[in-house]
Amino acid sequence: MAIRLILKNTLYSNPPIHQLKRRIAILGSTGSIGTQALEVITSNPDLFEVEVLTAYNSYETLVKQALTFLPNAVVIGNKDSYGFVRDALSATDIKVYAGSEAIAQIVEMDTIDIVLTAMVGFSGLIPTINAIKAKKTIALANKETLVVAGELITELALQHKVPIIPVDSEHSAIFQCLVGEKSPIEKIILTASGGPFRQHTLDQLKRVTCTDALNHPNWCMGSKITIDSATMMNKGLEIIEAKWLFSLNPSQIDVIVHPQSIIHSLVQFEDGSLKAQLGLPDMRLPIQYALSFPHRIKSDFPRFNFSNYPTLTFEEPDTKRFRNLALAKEALVKGGNAPCILNAANEIAVDSFLKEKIGFLQMSDIIEKVIARSIFILKPSIEDYSLTDEQTRILTQNVIKEHQS
Ligand code: MN
Repeated sequence: MAIRLILKNTLYSNPPIHQLKRRIAILGSTGSIGTQALEVITSNPDLFEVEVLTAYNSYETLVKQALTFLPNAVVIGNKDSYGFVRDALSATDIKVYAGSEAIAQIVEMDTIDIVLTAMVGFSGLIPTINAIKAKKTIALANKETLVVAGELITELALQHKVPIIPVDSEHSAIFQCLVGEKSPIEKIILTASGGPFRQHTLDQLKRVTCTDALNHPNWCMGSKITIDSATMMNKGLEIIEAKWLFSLNPSQIDVIVHPQSIIHSLVQFEDGSLKAQLGLPDMRLPIQYALSFPHRIKSDFPRFNFSNYPTLTFEEPDTKRFRNLALAKEALVKGGNAPCILNAANEIAVDSFLKEKIGFLQMSDIIEKVIARSIFILKPSIEDYSLTDEQTRILTQNVIKEHQS
């Protein structure tokens, strides 16, 4: 029960919330999670302090954020933008670094208490590993880290007694339901909105455009995760994420489509009791909880009102129309580097869909082909993960070219 140990470490080792300011490093500060985390920090200046900000490409936003929050250091991932960021911040004391290696290293700074991992995709892996080794509390928003290398990450966290607090709303819901519980989990139920195409036929799905897919009904998120929500790959990745966070077997993880996104997920205990966490869909809440855990702090977020939601509905997910969900489950059961292959193939497929190179349903076709053609490794090392990721990206590009010709 990895999470219980992690939870216990955190519950007894953290000082009261008002005693010390928590110094936060935000990896991916210009993205959707990053900017909402900065909102939370702005609303709670007595509790939180920005120590480090990093971004990959958005150098102008990074500079604006740095001038507002005056962190100790910033890192711009794309080295081409280093000069711009350095010059723009030259009148301040803020240290400026560039490159992926610098992002991976900055998390070790001894003035950081919490690392919020909010970058996109596989790029989260190495910085998260380094942050755990440096004994930083992880507020995990980059689910791909656990999808790709869940076994390695959870083992490392246990070994270094580092708490991993989920930011993903479903996993935060489950985490909140587990606080105070000592008994085993019978199963968890992840809720899914079903995305914008929940009721589309296969024929309609074939004609879905990128603009349609970027228009999510409930959640406002970055483009990668919005497409993942529309294909339900997001839920597939979340099943894998949940397995590692809460030490579950694949058979203990269910998915139910709940289009209103009010119930954020549920835990079922061995006596049959179900606990759920509810609220309006607002990512600031799970972000704030991850930063303030084990405390809750006052917020002015809009409150849920039952009269606005006279009906909450539920339906089984359809893996015939949303095949990514089935592909993710297969990868989870298979284990080894299979989820890493799934993730890399998906990142390339989503990118190609966003660039209008392939259609909506082709994303699943391509991922399935790539998985079938990849080399399976049952016990991958960290080098194996990097190599699998690299090779899968190349293979996926080739499969996409075949589809186009
Ligand atoms: Mn989620």
